[in-house]
Formats: sequence, C-alpha cells, structure tokens
Amino acid sequence: MFNLILFGPPGSGKGTQSEKLIEKYGLIHLSTGNLLREEIANQTKLGLEAKSFMDKGQLVPDAVVIGMINSALEANSQAKGFLFDGFPRTVAQAEALDTLLSGKGAGISIVLALEVDQEELVKRLLNRGKSSGRSDDTDESVIRARLVEYENKTAPVASYYAGFGKVVYVKGVGGIDDIFQSLSRQIEARQLA
Ligand code: ADP
Repeated sequence: MFNLILFGPPGSGKGTQSEKLIEKYGLIHLSTGNLLREEIANQTKLGLEAKSFMDKGQLVPDAVVIGMINSALEANSQAKGFLFDGFPRTVAQAEALDTLLSGKGAGISIVLALEVDQEELVKRLLNRGKSSGRSDDTDESVIRARLVEYENKTAPVASYYAGFGKVVYVKGVGGIDDIFQSLSRQIEARQLA
C-alpha cells in the first residue's frame, strides 16, 4: 500500500493538490474536513458536535475524527493506498493512524509538507471565503484561530514523522501545476508510486 499524508496549514493548497494527486496515483482521498462537512450537511449528531468547534476555528476532538477515519479505512479495504488530507492534525491522531494502518500490515509511506507563509495563508483563505460558502473562511479572527491551532497542535505532527525520516518539505507558493510537479517528483523519487 502507498499511503501519503499531504501536510500543511489551512490554505496551503492541500485540497487542490489532493484532487490532482489522487487522480495521478489512484489513491483514495480521505479529507477529515470534507467528511466533517458532510456530517454537518446531513445534520448528524457527530456533525452537530463538530460544528461548534469548527465555527470557532478549533480542532474537533481526536476521538471523533479517529472514529471517522477508522470507518473510512474499513469502507475502502481494497484500496491500493490513501491520501490523508487534513489528518492527522495532532500527535495523538498520528499515533492512532499508525496503529490502524499497522493492523493492516501497512504504514505511512511519505509526508509531503506544503510550506506557505502566514500572511499569504490569511489572504488565500479570505479570498476562498468569497466563494466557498465556508463560514470559517469569512471571519479573519476564525482564520487566525485556525492558524494558532495549527502552530500549537498540528505542527508537532511534522516533527513526529520527521523522527521516522518520512517528511519532505515542498514550497507551496507558485503555480498550481508547478507545485504539483514538485510533489509528484518527490513521490516518484522514492519509487513508492
Ligand atoms: P482547513 O485546512 O482549510 O482549515 P479543513 O477542511 O481541513 O480546512 O478543516 C476545517 C475544520 O474542520 C478545522 O478547522 C477543524 O475544526 C476541523 N477538522 C478537520 N480535520 C480535523 C482533524 N483531523 N482533527 C480535528 N479537527 C479537524
């Protein structure tokens, strides 16, 4: 199995690049943000609980997202690999993911980390908010809260995987296709795809 984590702060382009990468490498896309928004749209109990955190720019509790990822892995047991987007976002989530994957005789193959500076992120998210219909993208204070959550809780996930020599940093500023080529080169350089 080839399992890729596309890592980076909110607005770094994970969603955009994920769409291209899953098509090129035949991976199943698992975005916890998308899964949570589906739960909200379906007005499930989980969705209602998650929404109160998301509206404030806070992370949803680990147990909620880990449960969702577990179900998604089970539902795609024949997949040749997964692209994780927006997950894991805490070290506890990363440890849980490693446990789930090792139960399947698999693991994380590579972590590709998109690098974009903070002011560019705020600009992109406010711009996305004009058309995305996402309320968490229209309020600058919610955007800044998400970036603080990222620094405090999510950035340590990169150090966790760096400890296993799995992290590769890629510049996330420039043309979409140029960034896609850089990501593809990193995947192919490791002959993992
Ligand atoms: P972005 O990366 O642009 O913030 P996402 O769609 O990935 O957008 O996430 C939106 C919100 O959903 C986050 O701010 C957070 O509240 C929640 N969320 C998504 N994934 C996770 C996760 N793995 N753990 C906790 N909360 C999550």
